[in-house]
Amino acid sequence: MTNPFFEASTLPYQLPRFADIADEHYTEAFDRGMADQLAEIEAIASSAEEPTFENTMVPLERSGQVLQRVSAVFFNRASADSNDFTQAVEQEYAPKLAAHADAVRLNAALYNRIETLYGRRGRMGLEAEAQYLVERYYTEFTLAGAGLTESEKETLRELNKRLSVLTTRFEKNLLADMNDLAVVIEDVAELDGLTPGEISAAAEAANSRGLEGKYLVTLVLPTGHPHLSSLTYRDVRERIMLASRSRGIRGGDNDNRQLVLEISRLRAERANLLGFHTHAAFVTADETAGSPEAVADLLGKLAPPAARNATAEQADLQALIGDDFTLSSHDWAFYSERVRKQKYDVDKAAMRPYFEAERVLRDGVFFAATRLYGITFTERHDLEGYHPDVRVFEVHNEDGSPLGLYLLDLYTRDSKRGGAWMNSLTQQNDLLGQPTIVTNNLNVPKPGVGEKTLLTYDEVNTLFHEFGHALHGLFATVTYPKFAGTNVFRDFVEFPSQVNEMWMLWPEVLENYAVHVETGEPMPRELIEKIEASRSYGEGFATSEYLAAALLDQAWHSISADAEVTDVAAFEAGVLASIGLDNPAVPPRYSSTYFQHVFSSGYDAGYYSYIWSEVLDADTVAWFHENGGLTRENGDRFRSLVLGVGGSVDPHEAFRHFRGRAADIQPLLDRRGLN
Ligand SMILES: [Zn+2]
Repeated sequence: MTNPFFEASTLPYQLPRFADIADEHYTEAFDRGMADQLAEIEAIASSAEEPTFENTMVPLERSGQVLQRVSAVFFNRASADSNDFTQAVEQEYAPKLAAHADAVRLNAALYNRIETLYGRRGRMGLEAEAQYLVERYYTEFTLAGAGLTESEKETLRELNKRLSVLTTRFEKNLLADMNDLAVVIEDVAELDGLTPGEISAAAEAANSRGLEGKYLVTLVLPTGHPHLSSLTYRDVRERIMLASRSRGIRGGDNDNRQLVLEISRLRAERANLLGFHTHAAFVTADETAGSPEAVADLLGKLAPPAARNATAEQADLQALIGDDFTLSSHDWAFYSERVRKQKYDVDKAAMRPYFEAERVLRDGVFFAATRLYGITFTERHDLEGYHPDVRVFEVHNEDGSPLGLYLLDLYTRDSKRGGAWMNSLTQQNDLLGQPTIVTNNLNVPKPGVGEKTLLTYDEVNTLFHEFGHALHGLFATVTYPKFAGTNVFRDFVEFPSQVNEMWMLWPEVLENYAVHVETGEPMPRELIEKIEASRSYGEGFATSEYLAAALLDQAWHSISADAEVTDVAAFEAGVLASIGLDNPAVPPRYSSTYFQHVFSSGYDAGYYSYIWSEVLDADTVAWFHENGGLTRENGDRFRSLVLGVGGSVDPHEAFRHFRGRAADIQPLLDRRGLN
């Protein structure tokens, strides 16, 4: 049997032939895919012909199809259904794939051709998308170092290699320190406030470490632990908070302080090599933000009101405590939860019977999309996903024309990583005539046999969010693969998904899906009103802890290569004080030594992205409100001007087209109560 990745699948929408894929096909296709693409690149680069769009950009965009096919299927499986085999392949091929990407992007002859085209781009009679393609390739190759001399490239490769070692070590240390610091509880009475399920999970965790009869509270990545909102013993909360905050600073093998310093310094050095003053300047140059100044401007506008709001919330909490003691960071969540119940009387758990998964999907998520965009969904039981839990839906336009496949993988399982996400298995583009297949993954616990799945409030929100990414992929109408669907800037990609969350509580949508699973009664109006009223409660704290982390990220990546930073804690304290986010009761969401996003997970100088795209999101939500909400006309406008263009248009331009002006920050300030 031939390797299924060598040719495009002949199934509808080129759905991969999952049943025919054997383990050995992956490595074989990775090897051949990389070799094929290098040969294709070599043919372009060594051509004796004068560079043209047709003989350079088009074959570049056509190159690497086998690699593309195997990567899409493999990495989807590695996230959603991994095993020892996929983990071994991932470990073996990650450095190979990184080296392959460098071999393409640091190819001097190829870069020369792109540079020539870039110089002529306005005079070649190119269509707008084609011209933008040349610009994007030129920028990306330049930022990757393609324009450097051979000796500079050697330095760059060394820096990249050293950085990959250090960032991997950071992650390894953090994991080890988190495990070391898990809090052992001797007496179950000390866990007062936790649910029976949480207590048995703690007992189980202790058991698995040979601590029979005890309880273990394992740490989570952010500073705040979920149990802090319910544990009634103050000293237990304090122990957890102290453990969380001491990650990476205790000396010994797992100390991350030297790594933070060296990673920041080497990134600055690399930025200098590439012609930028700082790493933050290097990163933001190729984001919609454009510069660290633009990021600083936004964060600087938000920080003072956020800090003020946090102080006001703090006063409420202190009033509840009285004179007994002064509110500490480990008390915040606990008293905040009490104030929330007092003030708003919200019990999110009471909502679950109204969120039956199938109704949420069909009468909520799909319903809103049909109202907005006219699209319809048909389940295809004849088509097979990559796991028995995966459901396959065919999506059609209002005129009946096919749009693509939507795969939903709702349930949690041991082989699936945590969180929720959207993936693409193939991406629409006219050049290769490819259709679209998108997937959504969540981690909803599977109900018992014969029982219905009831979602939590947050899970419903997540489904609407991930479906927003799916629509972004499904609606793409681009010519070149590079621009398909969600291939947009990192500080833009969350915008469409954040916008789609707005339909969850939109009255017409909510009434259509939120029906009691047993009685069939609609969700009581007062329940919805309580939720809405409580939505901005606690935003002072949430915004402050997020901004503090985002500012730390920017600060570490704004130091110069010869900066004399030697004390991580002092540096952190200085940064937070300089912007007024140094309230000890509101620690940053991540401190430097456990800030995995930016020291090992690719969000370096980019943690600001979440709030950056939320500016666009809030302004777009305001636009829908101003223009009549859930209508076909509004949906079509958003689809054609924002979602459908994928990455083929400058995002600022796309947004201006849609909104009639640049984004306004006010709706975000209103939403988060930052006025
Ligand atoms: Zn998202």
